[in-house]
Amino acid sequence: MNTQRIVIVGGGTAGWLAAARLAAALTDNVVVTLVESPTVPTIGVGEGTWPSMRATLQSIGITEREVLKHCEASLKQGTLFKGWVNGQADDEYMHPFSLPADYASLNLADWWRSRDDGHLFCHAVTPQAAVATANKAPKQFGMPDYAFALNYGYHLDAGKFAELLKHHCTEQLGVIHIRDDVLGVVSDAMGAIERVELANTPSLSGDLFIDCTGQRALLIGEHLHSPFESLRDTLPNNRAIVTQVPYGSPDDEIASCTLSTAQAHGWIWDIGLQSRRGVGYVHDADKISEDEARATLLTYVSVSTTAEITSSLTTRVVHFEPGYRPEPWRGNCVAIGLSAGFIEPLEASALAMIEQGITTLVENFPANKELLAPVARLYNKKMTAHWASIQDFLLLHYALSQREDTSYWREARSLERLPQGLKDKLLLWQVRAPYHSDAPRLDELFPAASYQYVWLGMNGQLDRVLRGDCHDRSLGAERIDRVLHDVREKTLQLTQALPTNRALLNALTQ
Ligand SMILES: Cc1cc2nc3c(=O)[nH]c(=O)nc-3n(C[C@H](O)[C@H](O)[C@H](O)COP(=O)(O)OP(=O)(O)OC[C@H]3O[C@@H](n4cnc5c(N)ncnc54)[C@H](O)[C@@H]3O)c2cc1C
Repeated sequence: MNTQRIVIVGGGTAGWLAAARLAAALTDNVVVTLVESPTVPTIGVGEGTWPSMRATLQSIGITEREVLKHCEASLKQGTLFKGWVNGQADDEYMHPFSLPADYASLNLADWWRSRDDGHLFCHAVTPQAAVATANKAPKQFGMPDYAFALNYGYHLDAGKFAELLKHHCTEQLGVIHIRDDVLGVVSDAMGAIERVELANTPSLSGDLFIDCTGQRALLIGEHLHSPFESLRDTLPNNRAIVTQVPYGSPDDEIASCTLSTAQAHGWIWDIGLQSRRGVGYVHDADKISEDEARATLLTYVSVSTTAEITSSLTTRVVHFEPGYRPEPWRGNCVAIGLSAGFIEPLEASALAMIEQGITTLVENFPANKELLAPVARLYNKKMTAHWASIQDFLLLHYALSQREDTSYWREARSLERLPQGLKDKLLLWQVRAPYHSDAPRLDELFPAASYQYVWLGMNGQLDRVLRGDCHDRSLGAERIDRVLHDVREKTLQLTQALPTNRALLNALTQ
């Protein structure tokens, strides 16, 4: 029998993105129905995307102008890390979205460790670090939707984004929308899910079920018992306290990158949207109380806004258990979004994982029952590899820190926490810089360039990189000089020519 009825349970970002991609990609014979609870709220956070979101939006037929207009969105060029190395005033580096110049064939990181010229690596190898930290946009007025001078993703209001996707799905893509609570899940004799029972409407049968019920994981967890693997012993953050900070004036600058500032027991994200900032303190709830976390958050905010605004803020606490399901696809059910897992928002990889899951599903769509098992094996293997790479990459940020101020940081830095693969890499990088062989998969979530930015961003500040000849002697000095000269020229040009993030957004949303 063909797979013709897709039932998605859950109407958060995961559910609506899945509905949109499937409805846009599959033939008219396939009917996509999304059921969401009118009473269970979405998680309401998830404001930073990767550049991959541009391709996702294009593939479902949403214009960039719509996203900017309806989701409070701004343009994001990477993350600026503050205080992660030693917490001193000048402790900062950037992980930009643009690759280092000539990255495909030239390992500038290896050059940098042999001939440090006093600049931060991120500033030496791409104009993006300078452009983003000057709050400039990654594109010029008049550039077409999704085109860029420098690679970018978005900061957006998660609730408004889900609303935009919902309207697009139901009005343009033929997705059937039911607002009702799923009360039960019924499987057939072979264990495949046959239907979901709803509170006020007839039950809903399907051939393929997508569990987007968030942390509840109603289908994949509660019904199918696919195990959840906690990562709390290596990445202990499990709580965030969040707030929304209005700008003091409508002309205030909008940051062009996420700000991630290390704190005594975690770190604070600071994301600039059009009329407000989204700010949240991610921390380990075993180390500090909710009141202490709130006080830290408000102290952070008070530095950049008025006392009146600070005292008017409300805060909200979000709980999560860091971890994932090694088997997000079981039988005829696939979990996408928080139901499949979530580690922590450092590097904002959750929406990117949702995009990865949906793309893998679309590309390998099991057109009949016989294909379910092979596609499930492929899917589970791929997603598990991605979770492992997220775990490694996030751990790197903690392992390279030199902070000693609290037990949180002393434990976070412990090399014992690291998987063997990451320990091996850190040893290898004592004699050569990260490069392609460290991230060899074609579909790698974090290219070796990301490792270069973080590894050199953190170690370079302390001069902990072992100096010496370039590992690769074939790197020609003349070529390197030319490439670095081009980066300097382009940096000058772009920082002068590009509009501010605020100016571009004003123009695009009018
Ligand atoms: C603190 C924090 C910060 C984050 N920051 C980022 C970030 O910067 N970037 C990023 O990419 N990601 C981030 N994320 C992750 C991101 O928020 C989620 O991946 C994303 O919002 C997708 O959520 P979801 O759709 O899976 O779940 P949810 O938004 O929780 O949606 C669940 C849906 O299921 C429905 N539902 C539940 N039970 C039932 C039922 N019985 N019947 C019917 N419907 C039901 C609900 O009504 C809701 O519609 C962050 C997460 C956290 C916790």
